[in-house]
Amino acid sequence: MNRFSLILLWIVLLQAALVLPVPAEEGMWPLSELGRLDLASKGLRIDPLKVYNPNGISLIDGIINLSGCTASFVSSEGLILTNYHCAFRAVQSVTTPEKDYFREGFMTRERSEEVQAPGYTVRIIDSYRDVSGQVLSVVRKRMTHGQRTRAIEKKIKSILKREEKRHPGKRADVAEMFPGKTYVLFLYTYLRDVRLVYAPPRSIGEFGGEEDNWMWPRHTGDFAFLRAYTAPGGAPADYAVDNVPYHPRMHLQVGAEGVSEGDFVFIPGYPGRTYRHRTSHFLEYEETFRMPWAVETYGWMIRALEDMSARDRSVAIRLSPQLKGLWNVIKNYRGKLKGMRNAGITEQRREQEALLEKYIASSPDLEKRYGGVLDEIGDVFSNLRKNGETRMYLQQIHRGSALLSNAMLLYEAAVERRKPDLKRKTAYMDRNFSRLKPRVLRRYRSLHLPADRALLQGILERLLALPETDYCRPLRQFLGNGKDAVAHFLDTAYAETTLKDRKTAEALFRAKPEDFENSRDPFIRLMLRLYPVMQKLEEEGKVRKGRLDEQLARLIEVRRLMLGRDFIPDANSTLRLTMGRTRGYSPSDAVNCAPFTTVSGLVEKHTGVSPFVAPARLRQLVSEKRYGRFADSRLKEVPVAMLYDCDTTGGNSGSPVLDAYGRLVGLNFDRVFEATVNDYAWSDRYSRSIGVDIRFILWFLDEYSGAGHLLREMKVAGGDLSGEKR
Ligand code: GLU
Repeated sequence: MNRFSLILLWIVLLQAALVLPVPAEEGMWPLSELGRLDLASKGLRIDPLKVYNPNGISLIDGIINLSGCTASFVSSEGLILTNYHCAFRAVQSVTTPEKDYFREGFMTRERSEEVQAPGYTVRIIDSYRDVSGQVLSVVRKRMTHGQRTRAIEKKIKSILKREEKRHPGKRADVAEMFPGKTYVLFLYTYLRDVRLVYAPPRSIGEFGGEEDNWMWPRHTGDFAFLRAYTAPGGAPADYAVDNVPYHPRMHLQVGAEGVSEGDFVFIPGYPGRTYRHRTSHFLEYEETFRMPWAVETYGWMIRALEDMSARDRSVAIRLSPQLKGLWNVIKNYRGKLKGMRNAGITEQRREQEALLEKYIASSPDLEKRYGGVLDEIGDVFSNLRKNGETRMYLQQIHRGSALLSNAMLLYEAAVERRKPDLKRKTAYMDRNFSRLKPRVLRRYRSLHLPADRALLQGILERLLALPETDYCRPLRQFLGNGKDAVAHFLDTAYAETTLKDRKTAEALFRAKPEDFENSRDPFIRLMLRLYPVMQKLEEEGKVRKGRLDEQLARLIEVRRLMLGRDFIPDANSTLRLTMGRTRGYSPSDAVNCAPFTTVSGLVEKHTGVSPFVAPARLRQLVSEKRYGRFADSRLKEVPVAMLYDCDTTGGNSGSPVLDAYGRLVGLNFDRVFEATVNDYAWSDRYSRSIGVDIRFILWFLDEYSGAGHLLREMKVAGGDLSGEKR
């Protein structure tokens, strides 16, 4: 090769290196690890201290945990941007067949029109610190597994109490980072007055519905706005008319130009749960037992609820959150099951474990410290299968029947509230008790007695059809045998119970355990039979956790030794940061997906039949190409959704997607079907998350809703800001 061709070859190789995507990286990085990351080399174009600064104000201060979802402040007046599906319950709470905000969307022009989002809370991180030493100081060698779990729980409760006393008005939380090993205390500013400001029609917020859920290509405008309020002096307060908008320390700037394919993006948020450090025993249990069971069980629940919803709009409104939840899980599990099978995830984990076992066996010292760790874990999961179905059906009672579930919570409250605060179950401690009441009462808004009954009947019949065990015996003794017995009991129970009435539930918050024990109410009598069984299950759970945590802590240690590196803890609803690029993917042979969808693609999907109904006005705007300044220069129209290879899971719903300069360019809301299995194993090949493009949000607000005032509040320049276009 002559000199010239050599130079040419170098140029070609260099160019290839420049255009080849930098491999994406797994990683939901906790705040404590951010210092280790070279964010600039990944593509960040601002000082990393602007992203996270433990000694000052940074973008992280604008990120919120909104009742389990993520959200962000987007104005100095406490305006919050999150997903439509995260605001769904707030929209449902004001929706009636007469005033159907699902159909019309919810729009406010004045602060006074913003309505309470019942039960919604906002948490903003103030500080965090490692408390592993304190937490584990209570563990003694001779403790049983159950004692160990209880001792740790009690210690955590006392830390929380102490911290909240030291910092009045704040909320403390101790998160288990590595089970049985590391614990971090988080302090949060905690706001309790949250109001709904804007939601698009459901046909946009959920465009594509369950058919498109967990799928790409996607055309869903999954966004909504809320606002946080405080007492006039700025202190966190319960809802009150005179409260005023909250002024956050930090709010995000909107990047109305958006991003293009290949651009760097990063996502702060509160991912819920991943299981990447679990063993093959857990994966096998999930793959062959729990998830197939849930797919089948939720399947019949969905069929029952859909049948009732189809007949009556008001029933459909009532049952919508429950149905949505069931669908969301079932489709996610289907995706996971397919992904596990296709990628052989359990098998891969087994192979890794075989290597680990070899490593342990390679030295007597390792053998002494870590021998048998995998067998112990395996044993926990084979035990879990015994009576597994009974346990899972019993746990479903809380999902299936609001009446029976409420009866149980109210009785448990009466029992627990008699104990000293630190001895109570967490939900009934003074610091949590005020939240129980709205939780119990909220269920009346979604209560439809025939649905409650259908699900309860199904669960009871299925329980009675299982082989006789200690768990089912009390139920059988109480109800008698067979389907007729269940139906007969439920006929009377639903006719006679006073728990149908929200006022009864309210009154029972003041009742003593004896009041329940003397009650003739059929639901309370059934509950009293089931209560000891549920306690037994809970106790078994604690023993299991104690045993498992001990082994998982050993497992992490020996894996660290073998691989010579540290790990990122699994997601646990604490603040994390993930980064990547906007990027398409190939879901299957011969299929390549582009990373952006467009409004004309949305219109193309319109069939006029739910869930593919694009509002007429939107179709008109698209046909007139009224894209304003929000069109993408390359696509020549407004992008709706985008794909990126960041590492996200449930709880990242509503997370802002930020560009290299920290500007908000999208709103995370989902993953592709293949990526549902992320929770067990992440892969550069299939792990793609989905966000709404900020340009769609701005365009829709401006052109469709005439909500220019929201653009102005977010200080988005341009567009027609008259706000009076409709
Ligand atoms: N759409 C998802 C859910 O509803 C949230 C985001 C995710 O899991 O990727 O659970």
